[in-house]
Amino acid sequence: MTWRAANSLLVLEHQLQAGAPRAAPPATPAEAWGTIGDSLHDPGSDHSPKDFPGLGNDVVTALDIPHAPALGLDSREVCDDIRRSRDRRIKYMISQDQICSSYSTGTRAAWTWGPYNPNDPNRDRHDTHAHISVVGDARADDRSAWATIGAPAAGEDEDDMGQSFGPALMRSEDMRYPMVIPPVRGGLADPRPTWINAAFDLGSSPVFLRFWAGPGDGSMRPLLGGGHEVVRLESCHVFSMELDAGVRVLSVLRVPDPDGPKDADGKPTGPISDAPVSFCFERQ
Ligand SMILES: [Zn+2]
Repeated sequence: MTWRAANSLLVLEHQLQAGAPRAAPPATPAEAWGTIGDSLHDPGSDHSPKDFPGLGNDVVTALDIPHAPALGLDSREVCDDIRRSRDRRIKYMISQDQICSSYSTGTRAAWTWGPYNPNDPNRDRHDTHAHISVVGDARADDRSAWATIGAPAAGEDEDDMGQSFGPALMRSEDMRYPMVIPPVRGGLADPRPTWINAAFDLGSSPVFLRFWAGPGDGSMRPLLGGGHEVVRLESCHVFSMELDAGVRVLSVLRVPDPDGPKDADGKPTGPISDAPVSFCFERQ
């Protein structure tokens, strides 16, 4: 029978073996890097060649990768890197008795880990390898690098997120300003720390800003501690602060001078500056 593996999986296999060379065969058995299934695999498995409209006939859409942390290849970390990147090629991944899919199910949100077949005592617990399935359409042949071990380093290709990004401009009419950024210290793919910088142009009065940050799951926390401290920005001075790991969303709010006039409840009532403020993000 003639069959082929989806190109994205061949790219991943090659990328991992190049990025973790000590874990490449023969240090790990070649079978631990399986695409096509053996006789023990359920013929319904993605390891069995199937026909996909838009992708082709007799295509295998699954790859196993060995779990060999001592050799530099932690299969769970690889899955977590890919999970955080929300790669559009992923259907689901199985690792360490858990499954994570790009879609939600009755018991699990998309891109979160949950139990894998917990009621089957004979299930493969995926302790010695991880399983990665890609979607059954043209995306499965996308040859882009994966955001994990072996990904091109900064400057090597167009996937580079850059040493810095921005600037972004909060205009006079913006009372709040949301920004989304690549995850800070986003796993093995990009472990660099990130700073946010802010400044505004020549002007006489300072600008007061409150910063909120969150990982993109709806929860936001003040960037400067529980008292919701206000940043006092002086004309042409740069405010710079390192962001916590995992931050993906920021929101900046214009506020009055906290030391200015207050109402009876102690709430600041002073004027709110509308000076345009520029932000940029800097990676180490
Ligand atoms: Zn598998």
